[in-house]
Amino acid sequence: MMPADRQDNNERVNADRPADYRAIDYRAVRRFIPLSRVLELLEFHPTRSQGSNRRGHCVLCSSAKPESSTNKTQTCFAADLSRDIWYCFGCRRGGDQLRLWSLASHKPLYAATKFLCQSTGLTIPWIESAKPTSSPPSPSH
Ligand SMILES: [Zn+2]
Repeated sequence: MMPADRQDNNERVNADRPADYRAIDYRAVRRFIPLSRVLELLEFHPTRSQGSNRRGHCVLCSSAKPESSTNKTQTCFAADLSRDIWYCFGCRRGGDQLRLWSLASHKPLYAATKFLCQSTGLTIPWIESAKPTSSPPSPSH
């Protein structure tokens, strides 16, 4: 008979890394789904726009704030759409569009990215595993 705790352990490991685990090409996802698209999905409404910069309520922490929040907290979230980066001065978090989506959807990056592709109708760009036997890595000069 298998000890119960050992089985639990296996399930926990497999939860984030399924048997058919394949690596997602995160760079391709970032290229196909810009920060502006993620902000759209998260229903972010900027209170200030200047060039590629957006300021507004943070989609991560603004719900916790009371309605009598000051001007400062209303623009705590800053995004630069030309560079696909964001930072929140309220919850002091920042990153790229995938990290924002991961935090907003409360999923680890891997699951969140899969979910994002499904939400936007993008075919998940998998990284095909390299076959080490076919061609040895060429030495660089
Ligand atoms: Zn925030």
